[in-house]
Amino acid sequence: MRPTGKLHLGNFMGALANWVKLQDQYECYFFIADLHALTTDYADTSSIASNTMEVALDFLGAGLNPETIFVQSQVKQHYELPLLLGMITPLGWLERVPSYKEMIENLAHKDLTTYGFLGYPVLMASDILLYQPQFVPVGQDQQAHVELTREIARRFNQFYPRTRAKNAGDILRAAQVDPHYVLPEPKVLLTPSPKLPGTDGRKMSKSYGNTIQMTDPEPVVRQKLKTMVTDPARIRRTDKGDPDKCPVGDLHKVFSTPETLAKVYDGCRSAGIGCIECKGWAADGLVQVLNPIQERRASFTEAQVVEILHAGSARARKRAEQTMQEVHTAMQLTLTGAAS
Ligand code: ADP
Repeated sequence: MRPTGKLHLGNFMGALANWVKLQDQYECYFFIADLHALTTDYADTSSIASNTMEVALDFLGAGLNPETIFVQSQVKQHYELPLLLGMITPLGWLERVPSYKEMIENLAHKDLTTYGFLGYPVLMASDILLYQPQFVPVGQDQQAHVELTREIARRFNQFYPRTRAKNAGDILRAAQVDPHYVLPEPKVLLTPSPKLPGTDGRKMSKSYGNTIQMTDPEPVVRQKLKTMVTDPARIRRTDKGDPDKCPVGDLHKVFSTPETLAKVYDGCRSAGIGCIECKGWAADGLVQVLNPIQERRASFTEAQVVEILHAGSARARKRAEQTMQEVHTAMQLTLTGAAS
């Protein structure tokens, strides 16, 4: 997650909530991608550190295990692997990434004709491959990046297969390490990410200014919902509506109990309830989910978060260094044997 400010409900439902479920099943690494923030915001880095703190607090509030969280810039291997992978990544692969042209057009006020921005998928591939993972938990919107990561890993493995002593295969296999390749091609663990609408009915996104933040207190949540757009067919109280065509209906589907959802369908389609009442119920559901998150968030001091991020980054460095040593050996970037 990039540190671009406090996280919103879309980030929570689309990513964080899934990660919380995965952490009991897998060995996980979750990081705040401050180096990625530089790819678009290099001209003004003044808010990266404070945003990193906010995102870390949101991660902890959502219930991520503190030891799994780290900060990308504090793990130097994230600077190292991109240089090596950049050597083997054809330019055409980068220019074809769907979001490349799209972002240059969308962010026309920023000069994105930089080496760093073109190369951000290599940075992303490195972020993933440093942990030699089996899976990357992402939503559909990120699948293209993982596909490119797989292609880069494949190309690396073709050029630089594992160099190993005779009979080392069995030992490596026993340690659940691929005996031939250093960089396994990770699979997408497609996480369900319902596209949560914002208060204006478009996809909830920071860039649209239509978000409900994970930190919004109850009165703010209720106020924001009051102004939320609804089924355009329901103009008067007596008009019948359809929750399937209403952004508030979408929120109910994610946050409300089955009983409330049934009341919403019934009441809206028969014009038995008004939008104000329906929005109140949606707010109830949201507040129910947000309360424990906000309480947990408030239980951490900034000093504790800094400590957590230091420890998490040390854990990540240790794991990433293991990969880098294997990468160096495979690429023969070592001094051993130089004199022989
Ligand atoms: P924003 O559009 O606010 O800048 P990001 O693009 O930084 O959000 O999104 C970070 C993560 O949150 C991504 O994994 C993305 O899939 C998820 N996400 C963001 N907005 C939504 C949304 N409205 N609904 C579902 N998931 C979302």
